[in-house]
Amino acid sequence: MDTRTDVLVIGGGPAGLTLALLLLRSGVRVAVMEKAAGLDREYRGEILQPGGQALLHDLGVLDGARERGGYEHDRFLLEERGRVLINGDYRRLPGPFNCLLSIPQRHVLEELLAACSGHDGFEYLPATRCSTLIEDSSRQVHGVIGRGPGGDRTVYARWIVAADGRYSKVRQLAGIPYDRLEAFEQDVLWFKLPAHDDRPRNVRIFRAGGNPALSYAAHPGMVQIGWTLPHKSYQELAASGLDRIKERLGAAVPDRAEQIAAEITSFKDLSLLDVFSGTARQWVRPGLLLLGDSAHTHGPIGAQGINLAIQDAVAAHPALLAALDSGDDGAEPLERYAAERRRDVDRILRIQHLQAKMMLSTQGIASVVRPKAAAVVSRTPVYRKVLHQLAFGNRSIAVRDDLYRAPATA
Ligand SMILES: Cc1cc2nc3c(=O)[nH]c(=O)nc-3n(C[C@H](O)[C@H](O)[C@H](O)COP(=O)(O)OP(=O)(O)OC[C@H]3O[C@@H](n4cnc5c(N)ncnc54)[C@H](O)[C@@H]3O)c2cc1C
Repeated sequence: MDTRTDVLVIGGGPAGLTLALLLLRSGVRVAVMEKAAGLDREYRGEILQPGGQALLHDLGVLDGARERGGYEHDRFLLEERGRVLINGDYRRLPGPFNCLLSIPQRHVLEELLAACSGHDGFEYLPATRCSTLIEDSSRQVHGVIGRGPGGDRTVYARWIVAADGRYSKVRQLAGIPYDRLEAFEQDVLWFKLPAHDDRPRNVRIFRAGGNPALSYAAHPGMVQIGWTLPHKSYQELAASGLDRIKERLGAAVPDRAEQIAAEITSFKDLSLLDVFSGTARQWVRPGLLLLGDSAHTHGPIGAQGINLAIQDAVAAHPALLAALDSGDDGAEPLERYAAERRRDVDRILRIQHLQAKMMLSTQGIASVVRPKAAAVVSRTPVYRKVLHQLAFGNRSIAVRDDLYRAPATA
């Protein structure tokens, strides 16, 4: 079956659905192709920075998402053996969104999808996996073929947006080179434990014994833990048996050691994730725009990926409208968007790089930042600027509701 629309978004994650909603409100017809059948899927990362919260609020979806459940965290702490080296106090930032919000991605996506579904120009294609790009001889992209439950689905559009995440199939089909950033390459053992009566109020990255770990409270009633391991070292560790892994985990997360011993009963309780960062060399090509993790990938350090994905969509919205209005599908407004946005993303990647170096250095955090120096650093204007940058990103990116308009009549 063939369909024609104005913009086809591949991937119904935070980047894809935010952009879809903005375009629909500007009278553009949008189809979203999503490989998952429903919202009951595996998500990575639930911490939303103040900047992302503010944009979702301006889109009118934050309150509904929060009502479905989530937890506020006051601080981001970087600790070594019980000593706090960096204290990122979010409560001292300007309000009203001065917290780190731990919220299941599903809650945000449900709200975005419900808002999109209220528009006549919206078509959602779940359980449909993009498998082929339709390009002409000059490599201008005109459409996509997706594999769905009812067979192949061909969708033609004036612009295709690749918002299909870090392993982007569209990026691969378009032959766009991608550079993985070695400094971030880690494996992470990712698992949740019940919080019982002890729900943390801070997002912590800490090194207690052995490899560093990350922890925060995750709705409903759980603690998310991520234990970092050198890339590809897990197989050897796993061969030594579950009890040995639990022992190492207990040493790395001592305040949950008893729970780890009692409540992790099988390898199935643990997920091994390949965590990396990277950037695509090209974000725009005639007929094609890369957005979110597909353009620039982020791991859990600094909790930046969702924020950046939402900001990408908000920043790309006016540029995509200008490209559509230009009539000849001109890529120029989007090229300008990409050049400006790359500067923001590079800035965040540099901060994440420093955070990764502090946390993942084999000699310990103190080999990179001396504890006394770190205590002072946390109070300097430079550090406050870095915290603002992590919390808000580029503050000039705002929802352009002045560009909302009724759909064109046929
Ligand atoms: C372990 C881990 C923890 C993280 N923690 C955080 C955190 O706490 N805070 C934070 O801000 N960021 C975090 N991140 C990063 C964050 O998850 C990503 O940056 C963010 O999800 C990017 O959003 P996106 O919309 O670009 O892509 P995604 O969220 O990856 O969405 C892509 C969508 O595309 C769909 N898709 C993929 N391929 C196809 C295809 N071929 N056809 C159709 N659909 C397709 C997928 O099903 C998915 O729905 C973490 C990452 C990792 C790995």
